[in-house]
Amino acid sequence: MTDRSAGGTPPERSCVGCRRKGTRDELARYVAVAGVLTRDDRKRLPGRGAWVHDDPRCLELALKRRAFERAGIIARVPRANDAMRIPRAGLPLT
Ligand SMILES: [Zn+2]
Repeated sequence: MTDRSAGGTPPERSCVGCRRKGTRDELARYVAVAGVLTRDDRKRLPGRGAWVHDDPRCLELALKRRAFERAGIIARVPRANDAMRIPRAGLPLT
């Protein structure tokens, strides 16, 4: 709640699953990392990203609709029932 006082509303992203909008905090970001669809937990990896609500139903919808491919993410994307296998990135590597 620090930098939102510039008179605007918080920037919104569209979920590629359900197509509804949400704020950056409500959505998870997915990017291609070395050709693999990856959940960008810190929302700061370079490259084109697609946003999906942090809800397994939205993720499944996005996978079924091939929404990541359509968003221009060139990656190996699991089938909808393999959503659990999407790797996560951005957590500290120690
Ligand atoms: Zn959604």
